Order: sequence, then structure tokens, then C-alpha cells
Amino acid sequence: MPLPGFLPPIRRSRRCTRCGQRHPKGESSCPHCSELDDAQLRAHLDELDAHSDSARSTGWLMLLIAAVLLGLVIIVGLAL
Ligand SMILES: [Zn+2]
Repeated sequence: MPLPGFLPPIRRSRRCTRCGQRHPKGESSCPHCSELDDAQLRAHLDELDAHSDSARSTGWLMLLIAAVLLGLVIIVGLAL
């Protein structure tokens, strides 16, 4: 049974067993790591980890700023 044409195609992807990143199922080799040797792969994964760490700390920083601003708004609101 063909799918109706107005539906977007379902993106099939699978997780690479070597680098853990997702890539289209149709690709025979992983585009992220197939051209890397083990040392390069490790460097690549370290880089990914560093990115996720910095994203996480940026999230916490934003939350802290939001909390401080909210606190200021409450204090100013009570003072008026
Ligand atoms: Zn891979």
C-alpha cells in the first residue's frame, strides 16, 4: 500500500555501533567515523563530549541568570 504523497517520508536512521552517532539507515558506512582511525575517532568523541558539557553548563548558567532575575523582580515588586 503506497503512502499518501502529502506525508513527509519517515526518516530511518540507526545508531553507529562504533561512534554512537545516528546516520541514515541506507548508508552502508557511518559518515561520522568511517574515515577516521581509532585515534581520530577518540579525538572526535572527546570533542563531542566537550560540546555537550559546555551546552550543559550554558543551560545551568541560563537557569541561574533566570533565577536571579526572577528574584530581583520579586524584590523590586515587594519594595514598590
Ligand atoms: Zn560512526
